[in-house]
Amino acid sequence: MEFYVGWSHSDAIFSNYFSDCPMLVSAVPDNRGTIKRFLNKPKRIMIDCGSVYYVKQRERPKLKDIFNLQLSIVEECDVDIESIQMVHFDEPMMNKVLLSEKYMAMERTLFNAYEYINLFKKTGLPNKFEPVGVIQGYDLASITYSAYELVKMGFKNFAIGSLLAKHYKTQIDFIKCAADIVGANNLHVFGVTGIPQMHAMVDIGVRSFDSTRPTMAAVFFQVFYSRPFRTYIIEKSHAKPSSARLNEPLPCDCPICLSNPADLFIPSPRDYSKLRSIHNYYHLRIELNDIRLKKGGEGYALSNVLRT
Ligand SMILES: [Zn+2]
Repeated sequence: MEFYVGWSHSDAIFSNYFSDCPMLVSAVPDNRGTIKRFLNKPKRIMIDCGSVYYVKQRERPKLKDIFNLQLSIVEECDVDIESIQMVHFDEPMMNKVLLSEKYMAMERTLFNAYEYINLFKKTGLPNKFEPVGVIQGYDLASITYSAYELVKMGFKNFAIGSLLAKHYKTQIDFIKCAADIVGANNLHVFGVTGIPQMHAMVDIGVRSFDSTRPTMAAVFFQVFYSRPFRTYIIEKSHAKPSSARLNEPLPCDCPICLSNPADLFIPSPRDYSKLRSIHNYYHLRIELNDIRLKKGGEGYALSNVLRT
């Protein structure tokens, strides 16, 4: 199971520190022109449509405009990039209350998927470009319906979204339901934050997931450590102590701690939060790797830290 780190233009450049670092980037205007400045570019990338950004705008973007923005982001990557997954626009379900609104969001997402795969086929991109169909539903019946419709349209790769506000057991039921229809090894899970979900996804055998948790935790003054996985709040922050506080670094071999571990404990400005996110990413990867190994899967190459 691959871990795509959710990335946007103001975040740390994870791939400058880790040679193997799949990334999820949204096709929003501020992300244009950013990847070309990376020292080490991602080998595998997923580009979504930035639905959460665009639904706040007055009008939905034109399909062709978003598609072109996605392609321009790919052009900034190296020519030998291995895998490019491109995701169509999904109508977010989070703010929908009535059943009729949720149903309409699902139908709208399916219509977008249909338009997108047609445009994708017409464009005739090389094989390493893969269109991803978004499975979206509010119960098992709608998840099932949505998954079958996408299969009929010809999608081979799928992602399941709109899980965020749900209880983690419901999230796992939805993921299982989708995986049963499209095949777990063709399924990506959007926006995962919890360790229990990571265990369940490894059991189910899903292909990949993405998370912005290393960055979000760093912004909220949290530092991760692994073996065992735990979270601390840095002593100097004014954040409410939802976790134990820590006032000095523990032993760590991440690229930040190898040079200056005390930097993790400087609350702001943003540059220090970025350093914390690199450290957090390192430990979340170790935790995920250990989960995979414990369950009999293959581990990642954890030694591939770029020593800069
Ligand atoms: Zn560290």
